Amino acid sequence: MADQFDLVVIGSGPGGYVGAIRAAQLGMKVAVVEKWPSLGGTCLNIGCIPSKALLHASELFEEAGHGFKSLGIDIPAPVLNLPQMMNHKAEVVASNVGGVDYLFKKNKITVLRGTGSIPAAGRVLVTPQSGAPTEVQAKNIVIATGSVSANLPGIEIDEKTVVTSTGALTLEKVPGHLLVIGAGVIGLELGSVWLRLGAKVTVVEYLDRILPGMDSEVARQFQRMLQKQGMEFKLSSKVAGVDKQANGALQVRVEPSKGGEAEALDADVALVAIGRKPYTEGLGLEAAGVALDERGRVKVDHGFKTSVEGIYAIGDVIAGPMLAHKAEDEGIAIAEILAGQAGHVNYAAIPAVVYTNPEVASVGKTEDELKAEGVNYKIGKFPFTANGRAKAMQATQGFVKILADVETDRVLGGHIVGKNAGEMIHELVTLMEFSGAAEDLARTTHAHPTLSEAVREAALALGDGAIHI
Ligand SMILES: Cc1cc2nc3c(=O)[nH]c(=O)nc-3n(C[C@H](O)[C@H](O)[C@H](O)COP(=O)(O)OP(=O)(O)OC[C@H]3O[C@@H](n4cnc5c(N)ncnc54)[C@H](O)[C@@H]3O)c2cc1C
Repeated sequence: MADQFDLVVIGSGPGGYVGAIRAAQLGMKVAVVEKWPSLGGTCLNIGCIPSKALLHASELFEEAGHGFKSLGIDIPAPVLNLPQMMNHKAEVVASNVGGVDYLFKKNKITVLRGTGSIPAAGRVLVTPQSGAPTEVQAKNIVIATGSVSANLPGIEIDEKTVVTSTGALTLEKVPGHLLVIGAGVIGLELGSVWLRLGAKVTVVEYLDRILPGMDSEVARQFQRMLQKQGMEFKLSSKVAGVDKQANGALQVRVEPSKGGEAEALDADVALVAIGRKPYTEGLGLEAAGVALDERGRVKVDHGFKTSVEGIYAIGDVIAGPMLAHKAEDEGIAIAEILAGQAGHVNYAAIPAVVYTNPEVASVGKTEDELKAEGVNYKIGKFPFTANGRAKAMQATQGFVKILADVETDRVLGGHIVGKNAGEMIHELVTLMEFSGAAEDLARTTHAHPTLSEAVREAALALGDGAIHI
């Protein structure tokens, strides 16, 4: 007789593994199906974690080369040891992936190795790389199969010279010229890594701005900062084709988005970073009767239920921002719902971070959105040039911008460009989670000297005024 589980999760990324752990904690008998050799999904293996390992290492390399002298630290120019930097990345990945193995054992979660498919509600077929498939029975099934890089038609990815983020995390040498297609988070983060390590980096973006979806003032100022670092941009431009030359180099055809004359750019590596698409291949969803939306995402209701009773979906494979913490929170919520609790995710307060230097972090509404919605809003801003700690740290680039409702003073959105913005944003996330007002933040004592004081000052600016400007 087939093994029986209360819950079978397909996919062990941040959505799947977190959901499985919470379900086990809530008393369910849980199995996770994973087709990759290691657990942790995109995020731990080829996404958030390896990219942050390289961002951290390359930022220190850049700082050792250019930021130490003025602090009174004289060292010879740093020498890049790329294989060791890649070892560091691999060790960080291994340690995080191993952490998921440990947590699964601790919570008595069964791992089923192979590709999961759903012949019908209540049944999951696991097909290993070699050997016969096995079937398990599941009271409930959660699809957490994530996403894969999107590609442009006619461009052939080889993960050596024409790469997705996966190849860009494993380049064997610093490219002379890296051409990044797409000025979104992944393109700018990985572009920054290779820029700091010595590559010339050109970013080609279809739209007339970088970081689509983020506050446009923030994006404009951030673009200037990246340009100062040497990153070049070709906005309102599209890549019409990538041709491989006999010597291995690339020629990238770039033309205006609206059409017009194409120019040819030479590059050593082209990174396609135009976004990601939901991944449902091999699940057999059509046969199982699970409906997809017009963009190929699994359609779910507010309780993550698909069109079939007993089958749920979370994470990148459903609508919403493709972020690890969004997937994790949906994992917790679905486990709680299946346990009869009131699991829920507040989509209005999900932070987003670009882990460059400076970092960009945001939560809630952008000014562009508030304008479009006709909301009567006010803006409180504070620059890091006026923050004592930022001066001490040579980190005066950027600012905090808080948007609040004119009548109620309720904070509607927060945007930070600056060092450690990705940590500081959580003050605003928590405030928004409690439907807090700018005055609540303005009256909260902040330790001095900290970068976070700039967040408070921006809140003060929404009332009687910031103090230090
Ligand atoms: C370069 C890069 C950097 C990123 N950086 C960040 C960041 O800093 N912060 C952030 O929040 N997000 C980041 N992301 C996005 C983040 O990785 C995703 O949002 C997150 O991994 C989604 O989690 P998930 O659980 O939905 O799916 P995934 O992490 O994609 O996991 C899906 C898992 O399902 C498995 N699977 C798929 N189909 C099957 C099947 N049929 N049977 C068995 N197993 C299957 C896959 O092998 C995979 O392990 C980054 C992404 C990339 C590519």
